[in-house]
Amino acid sequence: MYLERLKLTGRRALVTGGAAGIGLACAEALAEMGAHVTIADRDETAIAAGQAALSSKGYAVDGIGMDVTDSARVTTVADQLGAIDILVNNAGIARSETPAEDVADEHWLNVLDVNLNGTFWCARAFGRHMLAAGKGAIVNVGSMSGFIVNRPQPQSYYNASKAAVHQLTKSLAAEWAPRGVRVNAVAPTYINTVLNSFADREGEMYKRWIDGTPQGRLGEPEEVASIVAFLASDAASLMTGSIVLADGGYSCW
Ligand code: NAD
Repeated sequence: MYLERLKLTGRRALVTGGAAGIGLACAEALAEMGAHVTIADRDETAIAAGQAALSSKGYAVDGIGMDVTDSARVTTVADQLGAIDILVNNAGIARSETPAEDVADEHWLNVLDVNLNGTFWCARAFGRHMLAAGKGAIVNVGSMSGFIVNRPQPQSYYNASKAAVHQLTKSLAAEWAPRGVRVNAVAPTYINTVLNSFADREGEMYKRWIDGTPQGRLGEPEEVASIVAFLASDAASLMTGSIVLADGGYSCW
């Protein structure tokens, strides 16, 4: 019974930013658990590469070009696909570190547009179909930076965007729970993806990340993906509005 509840056989899932990094790992995890997966990304070349990578592991996934900041496009894709069972709102950007007093309007708006607006456009567009079907699970990818401020990293725009994603998760969860749609989030620590490529692996910042983490390492995309797949499954049926922190103990210190 318990293993059965983890299975996603027959479910239809869409992962935004699914062509690389954590999103691609989520696509693989959901496919392995039996879902039919579509990876949606703004980067069409990366979509093809992601599909090829999953194909080589035996998983056929659909790919669709979609920039999450384009609300009209998001709505068109959602209306094309109809009621999917699982939406993973993973697309997100960080940009280089900038002291708050130097953050340009364009920088601030760009990060908020992808991380917060994009999450809302997708939740709203796909959520409408889930609500009509009376079922569905949405998993947002937040961040431990939505809870804490990494010292001494100047990333006000990123931290604010992820805190907002956490609160949006709770708001949608409360509104949609009576209508059968669950909304949760995962809040990861530093994960080994290109998003963190601005940090030199031999440099001081990288060392600080490692030293600040009780587990003494970065996380891997698969370690986030397994939590996302769990939250999307019936095994998490009692969970909605939860922000699952996966930080290797970072926030313990
Ligand atoms: P990544 O840069 O490796 O991959 C991001 C993917 O999203 C890429 O395929 C990119 O093309 C796509 N994307 C970016 N903007 C998009 C848009 N507007 N529309 C559609 N697709 C878009 O990033 P990642 O490290 O895998 O991060 C994925 C998510 O995890 C993000 O929300 C990020 O904030 C969050 N996160 C990452 C870390 C980390 O340390 N890497 C930690 C906590 C949370």
